Amino acid sequence: MSTRIDNFFAPRMSRFKPSPSQIASQRVRELIAEGKDIIKLTAGEPDFPTPLHVKWSVMQAMDRDEARYTPVNGTLEMRKAAQIKFARDNDLHFGLDEICVGSGAKQVLFNILMATVSQGDEVIIPSPYWASYPDMVLLAGGKPIFVDCPQNRGFRMSSEDFEAAITTKTKWLMICQPSNPAGVVYSREELKAIADVAMRHPHVHILSDDVYEHLIFDERKFYTIAQIEPRLRHRTVTVNSVSKAFSMTGWRVGYGGGPSDIIANASKMQSQSTAGSSSIGQAAAVAALIGDQSLIIARTADLQRRRDILHGALNQADGLHCDLPEGAMYCFCSCAGAIGKRTPEGKLIENDTDFTMYLLDHVGVAVVQGAAYGLSPYFRASFVATEEDLIRGGERIQKACRDLS
Ligand code: PLP
Repeated sequence: MSTRIDNFFAPRMSRFKPSPSQIASQRVRELIAEGKDIIKLTAGEPDFPTPLHVKWSVMQAMDRDEARYTPVNGTLEMRKAAQIKFARDNDLHFGLDEICVGSGAKQVLFNILMATVSQGDEVIIPSPYWASYPDMVLLAGGKPIFVDCPQNRGFRMSSEDFEAAITTKTKWLMICQPSNPAGVVYSREELKAIADVAMRHPHVHILSDDVYEHLIFDERKFYTIAQIEPRLRHRTVTVNSVSKAFSMTGWRVGYGGGPSDIIANASKMQSQSTAGSSSIGQAAAVAALIGDQSLIIARTADLQRRRDILHGALNQADGLHCDLPEGAMYCFCSCAGAIGKRTPEGKLIENDTDFTMYLLDHVGVAVVQGAAYGLSPYFRASFVATEEDLIRGGERIQKACRDLS
């Protein structure tokens, strides 16, 4: 039993929740430990190995004993690699003082929000959203302002809805595409319309989370907002990482490019938490960013094939309906047709959390409820799984839906 005094934990701890996908993963681990056969469609990371040339570069860096603290804003090599990447892929040309490096895109986003958001500042977040955004904003003392992006509008934020959400207190728009969880990829025209709104409101800044940039399907082309509207560059920070593009989530290297004052303050924030990112991780990221990019194409084609398997299977299940994801790694599937039905044990499915628990308990398939991403009744099913698991998982979900009455 804890003997801690009531106010031992800081009030900020009650302002936010732990990551919902981590809670789901914990429940899945418990069931697997009990010996249950669980198919996990919860992965938030690609499953390819670290590219061979990256591994070689890391060995060389270790050989050179690159094992010391690195500059807080990133090694020179890493910032140069990010500079090359932004110019090559996004037509964004940053000075070295306009790039910062952190332990993943998540830390870079966190640093920027902590460095810029004051009590009561508003941050516009299109919903459904990556579950961490609102909690990061709340932790920084800000107020998340959600813009509903329903399925019948392709889960996309219209420029009109964006403009309607802007107030004098708006500090940032956080835009993520390809989006987690809905896989939305904005076209050049859609981004231009959003950029035009931002142009009319000079106090609004844009935080563009591009971590899924390379996981994009059906030969779509990726654009980022600062590329579309260069006049927004002095108030846009473009964030990316090697996590999803190169399947290097555990190396923990992300980077941001934007105005030098914002970048300097983000690094200042990092200087009193983790300081510089891992030396070896940065050596790995340099090799990934400036090395052969062709493997991305083959890997994305492989993911697209898996997307098609899961997407097809979900749409064959009674009561489910899923749009074709344009990017990222997830099917964001409506389970509206299952709500109000009863399980074979007689339990009423009242919402998407009930439905995902039913899938887990009844047929051993783990997915994450849409409520965690701000939109119900949906669930997120990752297609980062083996082909066999995607097929078996799909069949099990179809059975679970058939068994409802
Ligand atoms: N942004 C989005 C939208 C994500 O889904 C994730 C991870 O799931 C991240 C950022 C975190 O990326 P990183 O591993 O670079 O911190």
